[in-house]
Amino acid sequence: MALMITDECINCDVCEPECPNQAIYLGPEIYQIDPAKCTECVGHFDAPQCVQVCPVSCIPVDPGHAESQATLWQKYQRLQKQVQTQRLSASQASSLAAASDSGA
Ligand code: SF4
Ligand code: SF4
Repeated sequence: MALMITDECINCDVCEPECPNQAIYLGPEIYQIDPAKCTECVGHFDAPQCVQVCPVSCIPVDPGHAESQATLWQKYQRLQKQVQTQRLSASQASSLAAASDSGA
């Protein structure tokens, strides 16, 4: 399952930088978790990092996004491919910009 942040969140900002998938973001009022990116930290850590650091324990599993360990692992692999593609695109754009600069 993906996790979710309840309205007990005090916006302490601690969890957001701990997420290896950049799944946590500041919503209109409190922090939120993008279920498409949350793998319960599967693939990165043995336990959900946001849960470990949250001082008010307001990050339960999201019953609306029930997922098996196998599904979470597949999500992790899909996200890794996206990251690699984005890095490759950024690298290619950088190379093209450098070539353009040297040709000017
Ligand atoms: S469980 Fe892990 S992947 Fe999911 S939001 Fe928390 S830190 Fe991010
Ligand atoms: S660590 Fe907990 S209280 Fe702090 S911003 Fe994250 S969800 Fe909210």
